[in-house]
Amino acid sequence: MTEPGKAHAGDSAPSVVLHDLVAAYGSRTAVRKVSLECQAGLVTAIIGPSGCGKSTLLRCINRLHESVPGATARGSVRIDGHEVYARGVDPIALRRRVGMVFQRPTPFPTHTVFDNVAAGIRAAGEAATEGTRAAPLADRVERALQRAGLWNEVKDRLKQSALALSGGQQQRLCIARALAVEPTVLLLDEPTASLDPLGTLRIEELVYELRGSVTLIVVTHNMQQAARVSDVTAFMLSGELVERAPTRAIFTTPRDERTEAYVTGRFG
Ligand code: ADP
Repeated sequence: MTEPGKAHAGDSAPSVVLHDLVAAYGSRTAVRKVSLECQAGLVTAIIGPSGCGKSTLLRCINRLHESVPGATARGSVRIDGHEVYARGVDPIALRRRVGMVFQRPTPFPTHTVFDNVAAGIRAAGEAATEGTRAAPLADRVERALQRAGLWNEVKDRLKQSALALSGGQQQRLCIARALAVEPTVLLLDEPTASLDPLGTLRIEELVYELRGSVTLIVVTHNMQQAARVSDVTAFMLSGELVERAPTRAIFTTPRDERTEAYVTGRFG
């Protein structure tokens, strides 16, 4: 696996492709004709000042944006070639393939650690076609917790409330819950915003480790974080995509002077 920042466009096939995506809240346009490719198995960071549309863009990828009253989206979002906005696409099923983690951990507060991870598997199981042979539930829960780097910390606490975990552990539990249903894409919206430095480090290490097995898209206002964890960085400003390039190039040789002004701290 290449180190973050060393990937080059063309290293792997695009997994998520946005084309002329426009997203609005009523008459207020938040995302303006953005076209962007996120390559399979790599980490794409989306950076830009607060309010530039990063979160809105992310929420269009799993169609969470449309859950806001008055919110609209047009243009195209394709995942592995399939149009997310095509008629007949079930947003609930889509959100299993496209997991999401938010700023604040969102474990199910009345569920145990085990049941938090099992919940998604059970819901997906109900929707699974007959004849699907899956590993036993406990094995799948363990595997998801292993992938999220949490197993050793919680293996003796599976029956405890998820709320008994630290904030950072809760965030990794949410990542385990998303991973349990084997998504192809994982969206992370400022995933360390509410965490202390150690919790932040663990999430950043995890993002690094998950590269290769899932396509990751991370929204962050923290440029150092983008530089540490991502292969490709996209810079947004006022709803527009200004520039997308290998992360190292964005931070050392940006093409657009607005990108340079932002990454050198001259605004934002
Ligand atoms: P970022 O993630 O870059 O901080 P957002 O996508 O959250 O930006 O916001 C983009 C724009 O959309 C901002 O002007 C913000 O005020 C507006 N916006 C975000 N969420 C809502 C909402 N639920 N209703 C109305 N406007 C919103």
